[in-house]
Amino acid sequence: MVAIKGVDYLNRLKKNPPETWMGDERIVDPTSHPLVAPPANSIAKLYDLQWDLDKKNHMLYTDSTTGELTGTQFLVPRSKEDLKKRRLMHQEWAEASYGFMGRSTDFMSAMLLGWYANAEFFGEYAENVRKYFDYIREKDLYLTHVLINPQVDRSQPPSKQPDEFTYLGVVRETEEGVIVRGAKMMATAGPYADEVLVFPFANQQVSPEDYKYAISFAVPMSTPGLRVIARESYVKESKQDYPLASQFDELDGILVFDDVLVPWDRVFIYQDPAKVNQVLKYTSLYTGHQSTIRLMTKLQFVAGLAMKATDVINTNVFPQVQDLIGELTTYIELCRAAITAAEENAQPNELGIYIPDFRPLSAIRNSGNRWYPRSREILQLILAGGLMYQPSSFSVFNSPIKEDIEKYFRGADISAKEKIQIYKIASELAVSGFGSRHELYERYYAGDPLFLRINSQYKNYDKTECLSLVEGLLNQINFEDTNVLAKTL
Ligand SMILES: Cc1cc2nc3c(=O)[nH]c(=O)nc-3n(C[C@H](O)[C@H](O)[C@H](O)COP(=O)(O)OP(=O)(O)OC[C@H]3O[C@@H](n4cnc5c(N)ncnc54)[C@H](O)[C@@H]3O)c2cc1C
Repeated sequence: MVAIKGVDYLNRLKKNPPETWMGDERIVDPTSHPLVAPPANSIAKLYDLQWDLDKKNHMLYTDSTTGELTGTQFLVPRSKEDLKKRRLMHQEWAEASYGFMGRSTDFMSAMLLGWYANAEFFGEYAENVRKYFDYIREKDLYLTHVLINPQVDRSQPPSKQPDEFTYLGVVRETEEGVIVRGAKMMATAGPYADEVLVFPFANQQVSPEDYKYAISFAVPMSTPGLRVIARESYVKESKQDYPLASQFDELDGILVFDDVLVPWDRVFIYQDPAKVNQVLKYTSLYTGHQSTIRLMTKLQFVAGLAMKATDVINTNVFPQVQDLIGELTTYIELCRAAITAAEENAQPNELGIYIPDFRPLSAIRNSGNRWYPRSREILQLILAGGLMYQPSSFSVFNSPIKEDIEKYFRGADISAKEKIQIYKIASELAVSGFGSRHELYERYYAGDPLFLRINSQYKNYDKTECLSLVEGLLNQINFEDTNVLAKTL
């Protein structure tokens, strides 16, 4: 049995915890710490879903090399049907967290699958990539990743930062591997992940003189010398008062590599600026599929909440409210269309591995980072003061002012308790710290939206169809002009 259950993941994490710091506190056991255990438990629930009797058909497959039941997140698609099975798995996990766990385990396995399907790109390290994918699959490991250099001096390249190893780079080589030092941001789920995949990604290309920063590798999160400096947590205790933040606050942190040994068989790119500047084209091949499915789920949740919250106070009779909710459902349908198009137009590569058509997925990635902030704004526009006037805790129903609450917090046709519950979720999304982090996440998780759109939708966009239409009209005019000229002569 290769696919694991939640309890296996939690036991593994308890045994090998990453060195995590939150303020001056070292988190010794992420599986019981009140600010880290909630998201770790949510990940454990996702692992359990693999074994739900009515979900096993799409959450698991029998691997042809090991003969073992394995998570569909590792299924190498050999047909469009396989891609559809992968979609059901992504959807299952997205729905389990209402789209709020951007780092359900299928995000990073999808990223690695893109590398595995194109392992030849890694040249002498190709076998390392293949073996690492097999290793992750066979142990059903949970990965985070770090790509970005810390925000110290963005105007300067890695070698011109205040310290030689402000950014992560190679210190020296040993027989066993490479010693690396420096920091990387930002490891979402770092405090409760099993492994980290590292590769550089920046708005500026890495130049040849910065070769020692041009590396990619993977290590266990519990590797000596590796520590996580976590951000402030948004976890709240009460599930009733904070249904989202109490379960789904994916903790982010900076990773500091303090002379960490990376074994040679875990090196994927080594001091090779040309390779790190190109590797991105293989990282999103499958994450685009996963992230579009997850975004659609999240937008469906926001839209559903908007529908419900306006229904209980009858603001949904107003046309401007209907129009704004209609804007949300438009985004949902564009996601759905992109998912179908990506699957239907998928093509096999030279190894027979099906790659989803990235064009519609890229269009969504370059829109979702703007749609999600807009969807949060829509909640603010249509729910207005309702996002601010809910009582601070449900305990108010046990207080002497209970009757006030029941009278003034009720909806048109529902009780105060039911209405407050709906608006508390809406407040978490639209005006809380948890909600703001999600806005920032959707804006930035795939990279700087400005450069992302310039690169994928303009510089690298296949312009042939657009230009040929214009050329067609230009030729037609020229042809007619020539004919008119010929006739007059
Ligand atoms: C909630 C959250 C979770 C994340 N999780 C992860 C994760 O798990 N793993 C991971 O690796 N990363 C993660 N990221 C990081 C994410 O990839 C980066 O935030 C993103 O790539 C933007 O980089 P930055 O934040 O350093 O912004 P910067 O690059 O510092 O950009 C700040 C501003 O400066 C501008 N700017 C920067 N450089 C230039 C330039 N050269 N020319 C012109 N303008 C420039 C940008 O356009 C932007 O407006 C996460 C981010 C967030 C917010």
